[in-house]
Amino acid sequence: MSDKILVIAETKEGELRNVSFEAIAAARKIKPDGEIVGVVCADDDLENLAQELIYYGADRAVTVKHEKLKSYTSEGFGQAVLAVIDQESPDGIVMGHTSVGKDLSPKLASKLDTGLISDAVDIDVDGDQPVFTRPIYSGKAFEKKVITSGLPFVTIRPNNIAALERDDSLTGDISSVDVDIKDLRTIVKDVVRKTTEGVDLSEAKVVVAGGRGVKSADGFKPLYELADVLGGAVGASRGACDADYCDYSLQIGQTGKVVTPDLYIAVGISGAIQHLAGMSNSKVIVAINKDAEANIFNIADYGIVGDLFEVVPMLIEEFKKVAV
Ligand code: FAD
Repeated sequence: MSDKILVIAETKEGELRNVSFEAIAAARKIKPDGEIVGVVCADDDLENLAQELIYYGADRAVTVKHEKLKSYTSEGFGQAVLAVIDQESPDGIVMGHTSVGKDLSPKLASKLDTGLISDAVDIDVDGDQPVFTRPIYSGKAFEKKVITSGLPFVTIRPNNIAALERDDSLTGDISSVDVDIKDLRTIVKDVVRKTTEGVDLSEAKVVVAGGRGVKSADGFKPLYELADVLGGAVGASRGACDADYCDYSLQIGQTGKVVTPDLYIAVGISGAIQHLAGMSNSKVIVAINKDAEANIFNIADYGIVGDLFEVVPMLIEEFKKVAV
């Protein structure tokens, strides 16, 4: 029988997060001929979500529906996923390296008594052995890891392993697992989102990030406009968050979010090492800074030395001309 890899999907506001589809592609890299089983846990509308996993390359999908899975808790989702693992006996597990993945994966790995490779950005196969690449020292170097015994269990960084093309002619079995989720010690009463609109920062293909150089909350408005024209999200340095120009949920860096967009535009950001830790693996980096000696220019692919209050409006105007 072929090897079976479970992909634990993740939802946000009732939709599957893109990293779930990337995790299916990662599972396919680990076991090209294996069976890929998508797992989705929620309190509602699971058929559609399960079907979507199949369209993105899962051979079949397993759902767990329970009222206690309305919001993520490590206890509730831990019990649900462990029940599926128990039933399926997989030969590997993949999930996103998101806030949920970072919380759930170590818990599952310890329960399963297996190792965990977290934050993989690439997967190669050497013979039958998957080789995982992950950043170390805040992204300054990469290490390659293999699992020599136990279950390959890996979390993948969003935006690094391309999802397979969606194909709505694909079919697969959808089954459900009944789980009696015990009383939870943590109950989520309400979720208050500080950033409700627009593209999810950690999965955005374009990020326009502002720093202390933006000088005020009002100064961030053109950055939102630029992000909007480019279909991207706004991020920030800690300098900007500390100065109260924007919310901490936008912070990128060592103590903020890690992003890997196709295009990162750093506006009025000096390029402190702690900021670079969250964005230096972006595919193309553009820096706008009036100080030609700013550290950000050392990692930028394109640098614009100038006043951001002049440069950003010009970029908005020019990108508007080419935007479809
Ligand atoms: P500054 O360093 O003040 O840079 C502002 C830049 O704007 C300057 O380069 C200036 O030339 C430019 N500028 C000013 N006016 C204009 C203009 N009109 N046009 C163009 N350019 C202009 N930082 C993070 O970002 N993320 C983290 O996760 C993080 N974690 C940290 C963890 C620890 C433990 C510590 C100690 C620090 C951390 N920091 C983090 C803070 C980090 O060290 C820097 O202080 C911070 O990144 C600086 O933010 P900044 O670049 O916006 O501000």
